[in-house]
Amino acid sequence: MIQILLRDKLDDCITRWHAAGYDVIGPQKNNNVTRFAPVEKASELDLEIILTDRTVKELFFPQTEPMFRYRIGKQAIDTEEYLPPGRKRIIFGSRPCDASAMAIDDPLFGWDFKDTYWFQRRNETVMVTIACTESDDFCMCTSLKLAPDSPLGSDIMLRPVAGGKGWHVELLSERGREAFDRIEALLDDSAAEKEPIANVPKRFDLDVCREWLADPENFESHFWKEISIRCIGCGTCTFLCPTCHCFDFQDEGDTYSGIRRKNWDSCSFALFTMHTSGHNPRSTQSSRWRQRIMHKFNYFPGKFSMNSCSGCGRCSRQCPVDMGITETLQEITKTAK
Ligand code: SF4
Ligand code: SF4
Repeated sequence: MIQILLRDKLDDCITRWHAAGYDVIGPQKNNNVTRFAPVEKASELDLEIILTDRTVKELFFPQTEPMFRYRIGKQAIDTEEYLPPGRKRIIFGSRPCDASAMAIDDPLFGWDFKDTYWFQRRNETVMVTIACTESDDFCMCTSLKLAPDSPLGSDIMLRPVAGGKGWHVELLSERGREAFDRIEALLDDSAAEKEPIANVPKRFDLDVCREWLADPENFESHFWKEISIRCIGCGTCTFLCPTCHCFDFQDEGDTYSGIRRKNWDSCSFALFTMHTSGHNPRSTQSSRWRQRIMHKFNYFPGKFSMNSCSGCGRCSRQCPVDMGITETLQEITKTAK
């Protein structure tokens, strides 16, 4: 039986989830920036936007976070580990591209070393995703073989009902079962047509791009310089990307005590690969842009059988010089064909 969550039951939903011990987090607008933040009531949510400016990534992998405190004594080093707060959460209203991005990064954070910070948060979080019925000129999930209603990474999928009255509710995972059970009594079984999902055109040919990138002949191609000439290395595309995952460790303190922090880093920054000798193996912006594309569409899929991109389009939408990944993959498609 199809079950509908009516929009006017959303406050009751949030109350029930809170009563069951969940924090509820959803998209909110603040000073013209939309990002995910804790909500107390439905009116705080901005569910009409196509995509938030900031991604859900920072809820699993914060921009900066302490890992441990250390103190170096005469005989020993004392350490005290920091761990995430350990609270179960519902992220309500993420889009399928953001939920997919978390699933894309799971194998990365669990590969040679299991990142307990990432997986504790992943295990404590239920992703309630809303399928997209609208898109903009930057959305490109279909080019990545995903879709505006892709289930990857979602625990519960909501599909908008025609007329904006609510959503069809679909339970997708065992992780979502408790959250689903808590609100099941609020769901309505009246018949209601689903709105059609957004029509997102294919913007490039991914298979052709991957083949071109895998050809060693193209590594030194002049193409890289031409396509990245505008890039100023600001890192916006990597910080706003839901799948970008580079980080660095910094010790804050003095010689004897301090805190080790894990901070986002970006392959677009000139210092990212700088050696202490002064040599930089990626000394030009074009070599850094090539690395970003190669990593996402050649090395990462070679290792994890998935592209490190969910097609959210933020890198192109927010780039201050109007670059981004879409243009590069479109040009590769043309060049290769
Ligand atoms: S591509 Fe755009 S957003 Fe990314 S580093 Fe270059 S200028 Fe910044
Ligand atoms: S590379 Fe660009 S389109 Fe792909 S997930 Fe990152 S920000 Fe979105």
